[in-house]
This record gives sequence, C-alpha cells and structure tokens, in this order.
Amino acid sequence: MYTARANLQPLLIEGPQPGGQLTITTEVENYPGFENGIQGPEMMDVLHRQAARFGTEFLMEEATAADLRRYPFELTAGRHTISAEALIIATGASAKLLGLESEKRLMGFGVSACATCDGFFFKDKEALVVGGGDTAMEEATFLTKFCAKVTIVHRRNELRASKIMQDRARKNPKIAFIWDSVIEEIYGQPDKTGVTGVRLRNVKTGAVTDVRTDAVFMAIGHQPNTALFTGQLEMDDLGYLIVKPGSTYTSVAGVFAAGDVADRVYRQAVTAAGTGCMAAIDAERWLEARHQS
Ligand SMILES: Cc1cc2nc3c(=O)[nH]c(=O)nc-3n(C[C@H](O)[C@H](O)[C@H](O)COP(=O)(O)OP(=O)(O)OC[C@H]3O[C@@H](n4cnc5c(N)ncnc54)[C@H](O)[C@@H]3O)c2cc1C
Repeated sequence: MYTARANLQPLLIEGPQPGGQLTITTEVENYPGFENGIQGPEMMDVLHRQAARFGTEFLMEEATAADLRRYPFELTAGRHTISAEALIIATGASAKLLGLESEKRLMGFGVSACATCDGFFFKDKEALVVGGGDTAMEEATFLTKFCAKVTIVHRRNELRASKIMQDRARKNPKIAFIWDSVIEEIYGQPDKTGVTGVRLRNVKTGAVTDVRTDAVFMAIGHQPNTALFTGQLEMDDLGYLIVKPGSTYTSVAGVFAAGDVADRVYRQAVTAAGTGCMAAIDAERWLEARHQS
C-alpha cells in the first residue's frame, strides 16, 4: 500500500502461502480496526484488495534465487527474472509443527502456534503445550491467565528452557507436565466442536494413552524463511534477518526487512504491518536519495 501510493510500482511476489500465516487461522480479534474480529483469510483478502487498489502488481510464484550482489537486484521466481531497485523482504517465520494430518485439519479450531493470539479463546478450558524450551514455558505461563489447567507435553524428561523460565512454570499450580511423550494424533472436528483430546505415546515405554484437552499449542520454535538469502544478508543465530535498530535497513543497502522474518520477539500481525510501513518509507527515502546523488 505504502510503496504503491508512493508511486514506486511495487511487485508483490506471493510465494508458497499467498496471504501468509493468517490464512491458516480462523478468528483474528487483536488487529486494530476490526471491532468484532475477522476471519484470517478474509482479513488477508481485504488487505490484498487494498494494496491492488493503488496499483500493486502481484505474482503468484515463489522466489527461488536472489542475487543481491548486483544492482539492480535480481530475483528468480518461476520462469520470471525480476529486476528491482529496492527489495523489501517479508517472507515471514513459519511455526514449526508436528506434521500430523489432524494438526493441519484442526489448525484454528483448537490447534494453535500462538498463545498471545489464541489463548483468550480458552477461558476456563484445558490446554496442552508442546515443547520444552523457553517459548513453551512462556506460552504455558501466559495461558494460565485464562485456562483452568495447562499441561506441558515434552518428548524428553528434562527441559531445555532457562532455569528462571522453568522455575516460573514449575511453581505455577495450574501447570502440569507429561514427560517422555509425543502427540501421535489430535482428536476433534474443524467446527464448533474443536479439539477434544490427543493420543500420546510414551517414547520410553511405548505406552499409548488418550488425554482430554480443549486446545493444543505448539511451542517448538519458528523457522524464519531466509534460506534464499544465506551468505548475502546478516542473520542471527536462528536465521532471522538483522536490521539496523529502529529501522528496516538490512546489511545490504537497498534491501529492507519487515514482519516476522526480522522479528524473533513479537511476531504479530500488527507489528508486521507496522514494520511493513517502516520498510516502505525507508525504501522510498533510500531510492529518493539515490536518485538525487
Ligand atoms: C495459526 C496462527 C494464528 C495467528 N493468529 C494471530 C492473531 O490472531 N493475531 C496476530 O496479530 N497474529 C497472529 N498470528 C501471527 C501472524 O500471522 C504473523 O505475525 C504475521 O502473519 C506475520 O506477517 P508476515 O507478513 O511477516 O509473514 P507471513 O504471514 O508469514 O507471510 C510471509 C509471506 O511470505 C511469502 N514467502 C515466503 N517465502 C517466499 C519466497 N521464497 N518467495 C516468495 N514469497 C515467499 C509467503 O508465501 C507468505 O505470503 C498467527 C499466526 C499463526 C500461525
């Protein structure tokens, strides 16, 4: 929207998941401007149309190569070779999932990868959190604000989380642990029924048990989608793009980063939109200065 309204003739390469992560969720209640909430896919349709209205062009392809050493930058997407005077990377960070068919089917119907986003829907209900790191402890602790009971399911018998996060979770009377166990199946229906339970397998004994729950929160980490830029842009230890503080400038002049791809902390739609706006303004000013010099 911002680059189109600034007459920069933007091309948006849509990639493997047009519309992004919100297309796999149901209700979004915390994006400003939608008083009664909105379905994720519908929200992305509205944003798509709003960007198109100002002349954004769209390409339904995945970028498979990027050469940021030459200028203009060169990208390959499908059969297309695209030349760009400025590049905004907003390829997101995908939540790591278990890979179960039932997990995919029930995503947004009790299966979630974001307690900040979906915890509120499970007031006085029971939830499972999958994981053993800081994120899992943080998500579980956060969920106890709403849920009657939260159970952390971990595939080992010790946690990877920092001591302080572990202590906080262990001391919380609403949090229980199930050790040495993995989820083999999630039960429920992708309608009002939602998630009803899971089948767990103990990795040491092989014993299989069914556990009742209303929600399953995956907290086994995120994978920033930055493989395309390895060796060309500065990244942190997890692969998130590093930007100059307070801006969206990456380590290559003319390349900007917005949204989850450069954000290992907040990962929200509103922060992604906010940094998207920053990236567009940064790009516009950078191009302007370049043309004047
Ligand atoms: C189930 C779920 C529910 C959520 N609920 C909420 C909520 O209620 N409220 C909230 O604020 N946040 C929520 N979030 C988080 C929110 O979705 C993200 O913070 C937000 O979508 C980040 O936007 P983004 O544009 O940075 O990345 P993404 O939404 O991840 O979009 C990345 C885009 O980049 C494209 N792409 C990736 N690789 C390539 C490539 N090689 N070439 C071309 N394109 C590529 C993808 O196709 C995709 O369109 C939720 C997330 C999930 C998973």
